[in-house]
Amino acid sequence: MSLMKSWVASANTADTPFPLNNLPYGVFSTDDSDPHCGVAIGDMILDVTALEEAGVIKIDEVPVFDLPMWNEFMDMGAEVWTGFRDSLQELLGADADADTQAALKGYLVAQADAEMHMPFAVSEYTDFYAGKNHAVNVGTMFRGAENALPPNWLHIPIGYNGRASSVVVSGTDVRRPWGQLKAPDAQMPSFDPCKRFDLELEMGAIVGQPSDGPITVGEADANIFGYVLLNDWSARDIQAWEYQPLGPFQAKATATTISPWIVPAIALEPFRTTTPEREKELLPYLAEPKPGLFDIDLEVTLAPEGKAETTIARTNYAQMYYSAAQQLAHHTTSGCAMNVGDLLGSGTISGPTKPERGSLLELSWGGKEPLTLDTGETRTFLEDGDTLTLKGAAKGNGYQIGFGDCAGTVLPALTDPFKR
Ligand code: MN
Repeated sequence: MSLMKSWVASANTADTPFPLNNLPYGVFSTDDSDPHCGVAIGDMILDVTALEEAGVIKIDEVPVFDLPMWNEFMDMGAEVWTGFRDSLQELLGADADADTQAALKGYLVAQADAEMHMPFAVSEYTDFYAGKNHAVNVGTMFRGAENALPPNWLHIPIGYNGRASSVVVSGTDVRRPWGQLKAPDAQMPSFDPCKRFDLELEMGAIVGQPSDGPITVGEADANIFGYVLLNDWSARDIQAWEYQPLGPFQAKATATTISPWIVPAIALEPFRTTTPEREKELLPYLAEPKPGLFDIDLEVTLAPEGKAETTIARTNYAQMYYSAAQQLAHHTTSGCAMNVGDLLGSGTISGPTKPERGSLLELSWGGKEPLTLDTGETRTFLEDGDTLTLKGAAKGNGYQIGFGDCAGTVLPALTDPFKR
C-alpha cells in the first residue's frame, strides 16, 4: 500500500497524519457551528453533518449524522462503514471531477479553526492489563521478581470494569485527585492529594457492533470499528493501597483521555502484525484466525508548564501480549453483552528496554530513578502544570496513519475537595 492521492493538497505529504488512506472520524465545532461529525483529510475536516443536511451524501432514509457522535453510524454495520469510506475516497480522491471538488470545497473546515469534542458516546469502558513488559515491571515493584506475573496472566487477558464517565477528549485538563492512601511505613491511611500521579500509554479499541453472548476472536475483530490513543491517568499511591483484592477503583476513575479521531480499523489493515509467541498455550477460544495486532509507533512527551516537551518514552502497539480482538472475545465469554460505543483500553504498552516504558511508575522505577527532562528538570511522577501528550502513527510506504495528539494538562488538586 502506498499514499493515495487527494485533490486536498495537504493530504498528499509523507508526514501528514491524515492522508486519503486514513479518513478518521471525529466531532468538531467552530466559532460559527455547533458540534458536527467530520472526517479529517490533510489539515482540513470534511463536515459530513452539513453534507448530509444538504443532501450531497445520503446513507439512510433518516439522518445518520444529526447527532454529534459516530454511534449511529457504527450501529449501521460493516457494510455501511466500508461503503461510506469508499465513497469518501472517491469524492476526495485526486480523480474526482471539477464539479465534485467545487461542491465539496464549501464543506471543508481548517483543523486550525476547529475545536475537537468526544467523537462518540462511550457506552461502557473496560481497561485491560495485557502488556507483558508492563505487567512484569509493575509486578516486580509491587510483589517482587518471583511473583511478578500472577499465575493467570499468561492464560487470561486480565481487565477491570472502568467508568465511561471518566473518558474525556484530548485537550481536557485533568485535576490531580484526592484519595485515601497509605505510605508503606505509615501506621494509618490518610486522605490527601495524590502524590504519585501517573500516565498509562495505551490504545483504545471501539466496539462498533453489539453482541449478546460469547463470540469468537474472529467475530470480535470484525466488530471493532476503530482505534484511538488512550491515556489511563493513574494515581499510584491510591492504587497501591486499594487494589487488593478486587483491582483498581478510585486510582483509575479521575480521567481517561482519548485522541480526538477514531482511526477506522480498515485503515490499519496494511499494518497487521502477530501477537508474540505464546509462552503457555492459550485455550482454543482465544486462538487468533489472523494477526491481531498493528504496527503503530507510539511516543509520550512531557512538557512542564510553559516549557518545551521532552520525549520520555517510545514504543509500539505490537508489544502487546493480547490483541483487542482477544480481549473483546474474552469479555463476552460470561455471556456479557457488548454494546455499540463500548471502549476497551489495551493496557499499558511498554517495550523491553527502559526508554520504551509506557508509564512513569516504570520509567522512574517506583520513584527511585528520577528522569531528567531536556529542560534540566527531573520527574518521578507528574507535577502540576505538566502537559502529557501521547502520539501515534502507523508508518507505510511514503505515508502514515495518525491519530491526532492525545494530550492533557495536570491541574493542581483542589484546596478542599468537600467545600460547597
Ligand atoms: Mn490501564
